[in-house]
Amino acid sequence: MAGKLLSIGECMVELSQAGEGLLRKGFAGDTFNTAWYARACFPADWQIDYFTAVGDDPMSSDMLSMMNAAGIGTSLVIRIPGKTPGLYLITLKDGERTFSYWRDTAAAKKLADDADHLRAAIESADIVYFSGITLGILAPEAVDTLLSEARRAKAMGKMVVFDPNIRPRLWPSKEYMLKTIEDGARASSLALPSFDDEKVHFGDKDEQATVARYKALGVENVVVKNGPDGVTLAFGSEPVIHVPAVKVDKVIDTTSAGDSFNGGFLARLVEGGTPAEAAAHGAAVAARVICHHGALISPDLLPK
Ligand code: AMP
Repeated sequence: MAGKLLSIGECMVELSQAGEGLLRKGFAGDTFNTAWYARACFPADWQIDYFTAVGDDPMSSDMLSMMNAAGIGTSLVIRIPGKTPGLYLITLKDGERTFSYWRDTAAAKKLADDADHLRAAIESADIVYFSGITLGILAPEAVDTLLSEARRAKAMGKMVVFDPNIRPRLWPSKEYMLKTIEDGARASSLALPSFDDEKVHFGDKDEQATVARYKALGVENVVVKNGPDGVTLAFGSEPVIHVPAVKVDKVIDTTSAGDSFNGGFLARLVEGGTPAEAAAHGAAVAARVICHHGALISPDLLPK
């Protein structure tokens, strides 16, 4: 059955070291990464659209061209005269990657300012996807707009998917961050948290505790990702199950592991797979992604 997935958030310009003082330009961002892997894994008759705001500068145009070339729809993207996209730089320090961000004035912070446009975009989709990073870049009024549209979509019976992706540096305070993440979960019908984040910020003692907490917020379906330890799934009233990760001999770069899992997971779910089959596919996709450098790997490298 054909349909449309709308992923909402911020895609940034990525600058990485290319040797001899040169920088390589790319584009990435959690919700965009998931759109990328969704496009690679979803049936061809599904439309994958990205929703964000960009500027009217050449870099914003490049970003949209890249999305279109990847088969990701951009017709709903807002263009704001005079604005530019956010940017981050990856540097290597003692073999560890460190990230520096320039995103305080990014156009994407305004993605929910036009409530009517946001509503129409969400109404056009069957699956709506957003994250804690999407919420973290928005002003409080824009958070309220996005969450009320997500709640409306959930009430309409759409699949509303939320990855909490907790990033403290985006938030003015821990209290507001945790409250807003919980509000994001309440607005969704499927939550895809990563246990590492939940343990640190909500103090969960194990994956079962994370499942119980999200269920108590009214999330019908919960998938807790836990790196090489696989995922714990609680779908509707079905018993909680565990699906192992795919073993990887040499992990090269875990950037985008969770985002790619989400894309592969949703793809198998819309094809009619069981949650366990969807999780196994998500794990297979993520296992390939972490064997390569960077957030986005070629669809040719992914499992079928
Ligand atoms: P995370 O968000 O770190 O929990 O990772 C998301 C998904 O990526 C996990 O559910 C695994 O399927 C996969 N993954 C992450 N790290 C590894 C690893 N070291 N080995 C195998 N799979 C992994």
